Amino acid sequence: MEKFDVAVVGAGISGCATAFALAKTGASVIILDRFGPAAMASGWTLAGVRQSGRDPAELPLAMAAVKIWQTLHEELGAPTRYVQRGNLRLARDAAEYQQLHNMVRQQANSGLDLTFLPDNAAIREIAPAISSEIPGASFCASDGHADPQTTSAAYIATLERLGVTLAMGEVVERIEVVGGKAAGLRTSNRSIAADSVVLTAGVFTNSLLEPLGLNVPLETPMVAVVRTAPVAPILEQVIGVVGGDWAGRQETNGRLRLTSGALPWNGTMETVVTADGPRPKIRPPLSSLRAIIDKAELLLPGLSDAAIDDCWSGLLDLTPDALPVLDHAPGIDGLVVGMGFSGHGFCLGPVTGHILCDLATGNTPAHDLSAFGFDRFSGIHTKTEPALHG
Ligand SMILES: Cc1cc2nc3c(=O)[nH]c(=O)nc-3n(C[C@H](O)[C@H](O)[C@H](O)COP(=O)(O)OP(=O)(O)OC[C@H]3O[C@@H](n4cnc5c(N)ncnc54)[C@H](O)[C@@H]3O)c2cc1C
Repeated sequence: MEKFDVAVVGAGISGCATAFALAKTGASVIILDRFGPAAMASGWTLAGVRQSGRDPAELPLAMAAVKIWQTLHEELGAPTRYVQRGNLRLARDAAEYQQLHNMVRQQANSGLDLTFLPDNAAIREIAPAISSEIPGASFCASDGHADPQTTSAAYIATLERLGVTLAMGEVVERIEVVGGKAAGLRTSNRSIAADSVVLTAGVFTNSLLEPLGLNVPLETPMVAVVRTAPVAPILEQVIGVVGGDWAGRQETNGRLRLTSGALPWNGTMETVVTADGPRPKIRPPLSSLRAIIDKAELLLPGLSDAAIDDCWSGLLDLTPDALPVLDHAPGIDGLVVGMGFSGHGFCLGPVTGHILCDLATGNTPAHDLSAFGFDRFSGIHTKTEPALHG
């Protein structure tokens, strides 16, 4: 049986960044994915790299992640298409205006470069394409965005170069535990021995935890996405709205990615054959696309002629407090869990990698993880809405 120091389950951004950090310590690493790199949330994402509007517990992680994003392309030796041109959150009426003003005041002492733009002229000075009807916005200049597919490809090429074993299209069926300690994996093809296992399997993480008597309460809403054909440059920032029911950005290649808020998912996910192999697909309902497009026309009136190129839906792994779990699995030595990113784990990816690597190798992570404990939901399930704005 093949044996590794660490087996990482899931090749989204969390798993890839973890495998990268582990490989740099000299550990032997295998990373497995039932589909392929960035096949789920890490490919479906809007890919905003945002600190503004974060929960205070998560803000230090987001700020640390932004520092890494600035030079990640150098570290990986390949582009991520990361740009740091800011995040605007728009208020559409008087109530949203007040809400946003309060949010900016609350984050005033957080060390973040977050400002309130009190009128339309101030907004359009930064983003001229935004409607003249928008009365106010928050602006965080050090937020930005990256390209999910390019970033994933950069990670995968680096993992290959560092000698990480890639097992794509291989389903992990269960975690093997011997004497209270993770011992490896059983996959659709084989058994693999490992001293530690890191679970970064997104919305499917519970299906591997439940046979071990463990569970993190998760809801899995969907978010619809519309992508246009390239248009002339009109938007450098990621824009969102108070309430998180719409967000958008223009990719560096000119395409606009526009997203809905969190919507109920009916549980249907197909597997379709693509040039890269089988990939999951969730078809967005017409009503979700109509809402995205109507809001896009109101917020960015110059967009009406943009041609739609593609659309899809993605799933969120939403925890009751909308914060991730970054912890050891209770009662099982050598099993580490990174899940529940609740719609904002793309930005965190590079820092998640360092944290999960430290947990798997017995080092003390550089961040306070007390808000991200596995056991924090025992007994209480207060619901928080996901904060989607890139
Ligand atoms: C539409 C949308 C917009 C978003 N916008 C933003 C944003 O602007 N900014 C931001 O920071 N975040 C955003 N997010 C959230 C962000 O994309 C996710 O939090 C992040 O990508 C999660 O990465 P992950 O690696 O943890 O999970 P995933 O990317 O979901 O990866 C999990 C992987 O595990 C694999 N897997 C699952 N089970 C098994 C198994 N049994 N065996 C083998 N492999 C398995 C899956 O195939 C999958 O590839 C958005 C999400 C969506 C859907």
